[in-house]
Amino acid sequence: MALAPYPGDGRYPGSYYAASANPAPERPPLEGDREIDVCVLGAGYAGLSTALHLAEKGYQVAIVEGARVGWGASGRNGGQIVNGFNASLQTIERRYGRAAATFVAGLVQEGGEIIRARVRDYDIRCDLKNDNVFVALTEAHMRDLRERIAVWESFGIRNQELLDRNRLRDYVRSDLYVGGVVDRTGGHMHPLNLALGEAAAFETNGGTIHEHSPVIAADIAAAKPVIRTAKGSMTCRVLVLCGNAYLGTVVPELAPRVMPVSTQVMATKPLGEELAASLLPGDACIEDVRWILDYYRLSADRRLLFGGGTVYGGTDPKDIVAKLRPNLDKVFPQLRGVQIDYAWSGNFALSFTRVPQIGRLNANVYFAQGDSGHGVTGTHAFGRMLAEAVDGDLSRFDAFAAMPWRPFPGGQAFRVPYSVVGSWWYGLRDRLGV
Ligand SMILES: Cc1cc2nc3c(=O)[nH]c(=O)nc-3n(C[C@H](O)[C@H](O)[C@H](O)COP(=O)(O)OP(=O)(O)OC[C@H]3O[C@@H](n4cnc5c(N)ncnc54)[C@H](O)[C@@H]3O)c2cc1C
Repeated sequence: MALAPYPGDGRYPGSYYAASANPAPERPPLEGDREIDVCVLGAGYAGLSTALHLAEKGYQVAIVEGARVGWGASGRNGGQIVNGFNASLQTIERRYGRAAATFVAGLVQEGGEIIRARVRDYDIRCDLKNDNVFVALTEAHMRDLRERIAVWESFGIRNQELLDRNRLRDYVRSDLYVGGVVDRTGGHMHPLNLALGEAAAFETNGGTIHEHSPVIAADIAAAKPVIRTAKGSMTCRVLVLCGNAYLGTVVPELAPRVMPVSTQVMATKPLGEELAASLLPGDACIEDVRWILDYYRLSADRRLLFGGGTVYGGTDPKDIVAKLRPNLDKVFPQLRGVQIDYAWSGNFALSFTRVPQIGRLNANVYFAQGDSGHGVTGTHAFGRMLAEAVDGDLSRFDAFAAMPWRPFPGGQAFRVPYSVVGSWWYGLRDRLGV
C-alpha cells in the first residue's frame, strides 16, 4: 500500500484549538541553501521539546516544519496529560524484564513535570489543570486498575488513588462506570497553545523555525546530513527526525516501524458553568481503560471536548460527529442532541509493541516516534533525552533505544488489514468487558 505524500496544506484543521489559539507569528519557509548546527524536522511536542532543551544549552538549532507549529497530533489531541506510555509498566516488565521496567518507571512522571515547568518558566497560557482519571466500565477493568496502582507503587510511584463508584462521582457524573483511578500528577491543557508557547520559548532562546516547509528528501548517509524542501535545503551537523505519523516515506528507514492511526475529537457548544459542573465536577480529564476508548474533558470556556475511535492507516472518517455522538450519548445521555461546534481528526503513530521508539539511524541522525496515542508526556521526556544525547550524554538515550521494536506483520502493504483484524479483536474484548 503506497503511503500518501505529506498531507499538510499549510492551514490548521478546523479544530476548536485552532479557533481559540493564542496569537502567533507565521514563520517564513526555508528558502535557499542553509547550514545549521542542529536541524529538527517537525514542530510537534517531540521536535519542540528537543529543540528547546538544546537551545537552552546554547546550541544553534533550526526547526523545519511542513505546515505550522503544532499542526500535527500535538495541536489536535485530547489535551490529556497522562503519565506513562500506551504499553503499561506491567507489559514492559513482562516483555523486557524488571530492569527495563525500573528504568521506564523512572521517567514516566518526567514529561508532565517538564510541561508544568515550561508553562511556569515561560508563562505559557494554555489553561493548564490538574488531575486525570481513568474510568472502569466493568469489574474486570477495576481489577486492572488495582493492579496498575500496585505495580506503580512497587516502583515507588504513589500518586494514584482508587475511586469506588461513589467517589468517582466527584469527578464524573455518568452511570456508565463502576469506578476509577485519579492520578493527581496528571492533568489537561489546550494542546495547541502549549505548542505555540513552547515555540515562542524556543525562539526566545535564539532558535529559528521555518513553517510551510515540507521536507521531501533527507540525505542521512552524508557526513553532514541534508534535508531538502521544494525551495531550499538545510545541512547540519546533527539531524533529529520528529515527523511521527505524518512523515510518510520521506525517511524510508522509519516508515515500517510505525503505522499512522487517526482518532477524532469533537467540541460541543459552551455548556455554561452549571451544566458543565454537573457532568465533570472535578474538572479533571477522563479516559476509559478500553482498547478503543472514549476520552473527554472540559475546555476553559466550558465546552465538552469528546474524543474517541481509531482508524488504522490514518484516514479520516466521512462524518466525525456521526461516529462520536453515539459514544457521547452513552456517557452523558443528558447531552443527547447537543450542538457540536467543531469536529476534527488527527493521526498518531502506532508502534507494534505500543512502546515509543527513539533511536539513531546514523551517528548524527536521531529520531523519536510511535507514542501510540499517549504521547503528550512521553514526547516531552524524549525531547530532553534526545537533547542529552546530542549534548554527549547518551546514557538514558541508549537505555531506551535498546528497547526492541518489531515491524508490523505483513510489512507496509498488509499492516493495515492485519491491524484491522487486531482492532476487531480488541473491540470484541471491549464489548465483552475484559
Ligand atoms: C486526535 C488525537 C488525540 C490525542 N489525544 C492525546 C491525549 O489526550 N493525550 C496524549 O498523551 N496523547 C494524545 N494523542 C497523541 C499525542 O498527541 C501524540 O503522541 C504527540 O502529540 C506526538 O507528537 P510528535 O511531535 O511526535 O508528532 P506531531 O505532533 O504529529 O508532530 C509532527 C510534526 O512533523 C511535521 N512533519 C511531518 N512530516 C514532515 C515533513 N516531511 N516535512 C516537514 N514537517 C513534517 C508535521 O507537520 C507535524 O507538525 C492524541 C493524538 C491525536 C491525533
